[in-house]
Amino acid sequence: MTSHDTSALARVAARARAGAQGPGRAPSGAGRRGAVLNDDADGLQIAGLTSLSTCDWPGRLVATVFLQGCPWSCTYCHNPELIDPRTPGVVPWAQVRNLLSRRAGLLDGLVFSGGEPTRQPMLGAAMREVKEAGFGVGLHTSGAYPRRLAAVLGLVDWVGLDIKAPADLYEAITGVGRSAHAAFESLRLVLDAGVPVQVRTTVDPTVLDEDDVARLVRVLRHLGVHDHVRQEVRALGTTPEYQEALAAARA
Ligand code: SF4
Repeated sequence: MTSHDTSALARVAARARAGAQGPGRAPSGAGRRGAVLNDDADGLQIAGLTSLSTCDWPGRLVATVFLQGCPWSCTYCHNPELIDPRTPGVVPWAQVRNLLSRRAGLLDGLVFSGGEPTRQPMLGAAMREVKEAGFGVGLHTSGAYPRRLAAVLGLVDWVGLDIKAPADLYEAITGVGRSAHAAFESLRLVLDAGVPVQVRTTVDPTVLDEDDVARLVRVLRHLGVHDHVRQEVRALGTTPEYQEALAAARA
């Protein structure tokens, strides 16, 4: 990217900050809109940055940011260090902005992953900045915050949404009551909005058997999901207790 482009990106950032305060800028469907669309992307807690990925958004060449904090505590979480929302970020948003300015024409977009990206109030401002700079916006989410998801959905070009289990088994995976309600409400929002979505199910064999997976597949088809990917649990990074349970379930 040229220096002209870099200054253009800085102008985009300034516009994004100014624009978030202006009338008519916020996307529709926001629940607690003010809390969700904070005007300063520089406040994002970013735990990590992958500068090049070919798999985080199928068919696209992207960079990925991993945002700190998640309200759930899944059995198989292999990034437990991303769960605590009090952990400060280690990558400044300016570094992401600089990366994008250098990769214009090379990268298709930026994926916001986590943790749970919709937890952070600055997400909307960051997405708007990325989009106005000419990049696509991808989002990985567990659907834990449907109203926050609704507030940013108008800025998102593609969603990778985790649907972890049939509703009656959700809490056994996330450790949190009503997590199924949030996840399926988020799925409904994404489908109703017509945003391209890939639903992913990481099959936890300590909770789900094949009948449960078949049950979930039927539910997803009924809801209108066309792109559903089944993923195997990875033991790496999970707790020793979970690794033991996983080995027993696979024996
Ligand atoms: S939703 Fe994702 S980041 Fe959060 S605990 Fe579950 S696996 Fe970990």
